[in-house]
Amino acid sequence: KPVVLWFRRDLRLNDNPALYHAVATGRPILPVFILDRDPDRPAGAASLWWLDKSLRALDDSLRERGSRLILRRGDSLTQLQSLIEDTGADALFMNRLFEPAAFARDAEIAHELKSAGVDCRGFNGSLLARPGAVLNGSDAPYKVFTPFMKALLATAEPPPPTTAPRRIATPDAVQTESIDDWRLHPTRSDWSKGFDWTPGEAGADAALSDFLARGLKTYAKGRDHPALPTTSRLSPHLHWGEISPWRAAQRARGAADAGAVPAGEADKFVAELGWRDFSAHLLHHFPTITDRAFRPEYESMPWRGDPEGLEAWKRGRTGYPLVDAGMRQLWTTGWMHNRVRMVVASFLVKHLLIDWREGEAWFWDTLVDADLASNVQNWQWVAGSGADAAPYFRIFNPITQGEKFDATGGYVRRWVPELRRLPDRWLPSPWTAPPEVLRDAGVRLGKHYPHPILDHAQARARALDALKTVTGRD
Ligand code: FAD
Repeated sequence: KPVVLWFRRDLRLNDNPALYHAVATGRPILPVFILDRDPDRPAGAASLWWLDKSLRALDDSLRERGSRLILRRGDSLTQLQSLIEDTGADALFMNRLFEPAAFARDAEIAHELKSAGVDCRGFNGSLLARPGAVLNGSDAPYKVFTPFMKALLATAEPPPPTTAPRRIATPDAVQTESIDDWRLHPTRSDWSKGFDWTPGEAGADAALSDFLARGLKTYAKGRDHPALPTTSRLSPHLHWGEISPWRAAQRARGAADAGAVPAGEADKFVAELGWRDFSAHLLHHFPTITDRAFRPEYESMPWRGDPEGLEAWKRGRTGYPLVDAGMRQLWTTGWMHNRVRMVVASFLVKHLLIDWREGEAWFWDTLVDADLASNVQNWQWVAGSGADAAPYFRIFNPITQGEKFDATGGYVRRWVPELRRLPDRWLPSPWTAPPEVLRDAGVRLGKHYPHPILDHAQARARALDALKTVTGRD
């Protein structure tokens, strides 16, 4: 009897524990992907763009091995039941999802199927450690990253690497849908023309190899400079499980062991992968953080309703070049550099005093790496309301951040080309440039590029004032 292999966010054949164990049964495999409404939050548009390509890549890899991806759409349990009925399968193997609603749904599905005699097995294929496996001395979840990571590294065992099976036997004549009918790629106006990505397992592997050869050796410092290609850009690949985080960590450590890069650089990279796990563990243990402040006192923050400010932020028209560059990079490519994510998020939450949930929702729709746990955790980190958060009173200065991390203006010039002829010195704050400098650079503020929509010092004072309602302190 065949085994159903339910693909979700583990779209790879190497290091895939569910696949490995399913093949080890020696029985025919039914690889299936079900397009269902995500019970935690429906996927955003950029995520669906990615999914479209990643599923096609997975299908190609399966076909090279004599198999293929079966596509179904609708309620997951109903679809699994019908697949099991159609094929006589009596086992279901899957890699677990750890978001709260998906986790609960999977448990219900397993319960239903088990009572119908189906053997259900779940594995961890997406995180360094399974949530629940890294707890403090009182068996409670960690709320601070550093001890969490220390405990994770001390306890979690890297799974032995496994390579894709050469052949996967899949029965013929199983009903499948066509991915073209799913229309996951934007149809009306195609906003994805600037998306420069190769979704799929081969793309993930190439991104990692490229990073090990070029970015890793200067990662710890270089990762803060958005004009440099120093980070891995693995985030969407990791989100969709096209590569396992252990594989990424071990290849980075391997480069250090071989003397190709200093050990500290590899450690820093592994620590960033740890933030991904930390976010997932937090969300798993504290499910309300998707829409409630982790620190409840932050629910009294006097957020402003400011549709115009929000729109200027989304469109990259705030008049603050580093903020605008980031928001335009996001819209054009579906991704934004981490340093700039922190700056734009802080600008929204503190300078504009707009609720972090508005920004989180925009990121959710536009990021190719949109990940519920990482997105929410990072937004709450910036807003000061998260578990291990930056204090709210530390307000990123969008001007000095530009001076420090984009000193020669490569990033801003790329994404805000109307300012490209402005000398470096004035680039982070064009409104301070003397009129002749602006004229020589061909910039008319208010015409080619907006005047700043707010004054930094005033906005900072307003944000600190708002904080008093949270802390009760004057
Ligand atoms: P690298 O520097 O190469 O890091 C390697 C991997 O580590 C990343 O691919 C990612 O999986 C993980 N990682 C790195 N930094 C973080 C972090 N701070 N939190 C969690 N994981 C991290 N990341 C997402 O994957 N999805 C999101 O939806 C998301 N939303 C964010 C929202 C805000 C406001 C901020 C400040 C950060 C957000 N991040 C998110 C984290 C981070 O910006 C991205 O993971 C990173 O920029 C991805 O680029 P990279 O793969 O080149 O990172």
